[in-house]
Amino acid sequence: MHYYDNVVELIGNTPLVKLRNVTAGIPATVLAKVEYLNPGGSVKDRIALRMVEEAEQAGLLKPGGTIVEPTSGNTGVGLALVAQLRGYRCVFVCPDKVSQDKQDVLRAYGAEVVVCPTAVAPEDPRSYYNVSDRLAREIPGAWKPDQYSNQANPRSHYETTGPELWKQTDGRITHFVAGVGTGGTISGVGRYLKEASGGAVRIVGADPEGSVYSGGTGRPYLVEGVGEDFWPETYDRTVCDEIVEVSDKTSFELTRRLAREEGLLVGGSCGMAVAAALEVARRGTPDDVVVVLLPDGGRGYLSKLFNDEWMARYGFLETGTAEPTVSDAL
Ligand code: PMP
Repeated sequence: MHYYDNVVELIGNTPLVKLRNVTAGIPATVLAKVEYLNPGGSVKDRIALRMVEEAEQAGLLKPGGTIVEPTSGNTGVGLALVAQLRGYRCVFVCPDKVSQDKQDVLRAYGAEVVVCPTAVAPEDPRSYYNVSDRLAREIPGAWKPDQYSNQANPRSHYETTGPELWKQTDGRITHFVAGVGTGGTISGVGRYLKEASGGAVRIVGADPEGSVYSGGTGRPYLVEGVGEDFWPETYDRTVCDEIVEVSDKTSFELTRRLAREEGLLVGGSCGMAVAAALEVARRGTPDDVVVVLLPDGGRGYLSKLFNDEWMARYGFLETGTAEPTVSDAL
């Protein structure tokens, strides 16, 4: 019999797939690391597992404990999966702008979700930062992973994602491209690949226009999960050789093309990362192997970037540019 003992064992060892159509006319090989194939549907399963393991080893999380984290998405799902297997309770705190669907996913995994008002200042006691801090203090046995400062986040990528890529490409990877949110992915993978290749692999971060990593002030953008308005401790400023800035429009257009032309239904930060990877690959040679990491799947974004009306509302799709449909002809 061939089976895994539990879903947590399915985390990591995700495949690499060549991008064949969006790369037309580009000399380099572009390979995508498909992280939505993790059991919780995103790259965040990796950090959830490592953060919980290290907290257990450090005695911060004890049997029957509670995980409290301000998260509305992928990290919550990862933590919920790991917590279930190990018998922890999960309390996630999110602002009320987070869609009902996202809250429901976390509840479906058995987590409790506390919703806080968005329209209050961060220092307000009702803000989601303050509520999560208070719950972490008040609930007995509570532990707050804090993915923005927890070094187990980059470490999980140094220990798993980086070595997987080096092995999968037989050491032929020349460029690694990923979006930067907490910076855990790019810092951990980047450091591993630099060490393994003696500094030869070029590390490229992709960032939304307006975010601090590409010199912005933190002005708003719509692509989710990437970019910041502050510098998190999980981002190692020495690792990136280059940051490529990508607009929301380009990110979403490319994300839609990945679904239509590559069969990859992925999230908006994936289109952003691929836009940066194509820019790098365009300057490359046929010997270059550019690997781009795709953090999550696209089902959570159907009513946003995959919806023509939503795209048109933000000016990302000029009226009349949607693909003609059969019903148009009737
Ligand atoms: N894309 C999505 C959808 C994410 O949720 C995240 C994590 N915030 C990232 C990209 C960026 O990854 P990291 O936090 O490791 O920089």
